[in-house]
Amino acid sequence: MIELQNVTLTYTDGNSRITAVDNVSLRCEDGTLMGITGPSGSGKSSLLAIAASLIRPDSGGVLIGEGTDTVDAAQLSKTEATELRRERIGIVFQQSNLLPALTAREQIEVMAHLGGASKTRRSTITSQASELLEAVGLTSRADKRPHQLSGGERQRVAIARALVRSPEVLLIDEPTSALDQERGAEIIELIERLTHERGTATLLVTHDLIHKAAFDELVTVVDGRIRETVAA
Ligand code: ADP
Ligand code: MG
Repeated sequence: MIELQNVTLTYTDGNSRITAVDNVSLRCEDGTLMGITGPSGSGKSSLLAIAASLIRPDSGGVLIGEGTDTVDAAQLSKTEATELRRERIGIVFQQSNLLPALTAREQIEVMAHLGGASKTRRSTITSQASELLEAVGLTSRADKRPHQLSGGERQRVAIARALVRSPEVLLIDEPTSALDQERGAEIIELIERLTHERGTATLLVTHDLIHKAAFDELVTVVDGRIRETVAA
């Protein structure tokens, strides 16, 4: 579960301040796909960065987890936030941010090695990478490097990489913006399926409303505020 409680974020802009996120509250349960839409500049990426504990809000809470496992990401130190991201949050940015020299399989394996990796056996990492490649439909492309993959395939690798530690929360920013309509629809379907299969609380930012049917809930943000929330 991820819950934002009365979250506000301002940026300095010369000698004034911009309110990018204005008292936003939302809650996304495990196994649920929440779409976040709204015009450019409405604060969607800022909202996702707060949910990811990459930016600390000026005020408000960012609760992640269930029961006694719940943490407030807005209260963590930088080190604690890094740990939280590594263990409990999967993030996919607009550009897939893959390492050019690594194959699809290696991108996933490197992630599995990071932090606490000495305890993880190589064979476990290899089989986990195979399982994730299969889950995103890339088994036959496992040994390709990013430049040998299409935009949609690169997004699939980025999604597989985000799932390495079985995160509770999955945060995805505009995954279809560089794709044609058909590839875009496939990526959204994939995210919908993985959310339900793996039980992640998934926030998906998109300005593309043709994908609307995939969302369990759709939040519209305008000028940093929630304008509307529609359940599917
Ligand atoms: P969206 O993702 O919906 O396009 P953003 O969250 O990127 O919106 O931006 C929201 C507002 O905050 C915009 O007015 C943008 O110009 C401003 N903004 C975003 N990032 C920064 C930053 N690092 N410094 C100052 N202003 C920013
Ligand atoms: Mg954005």
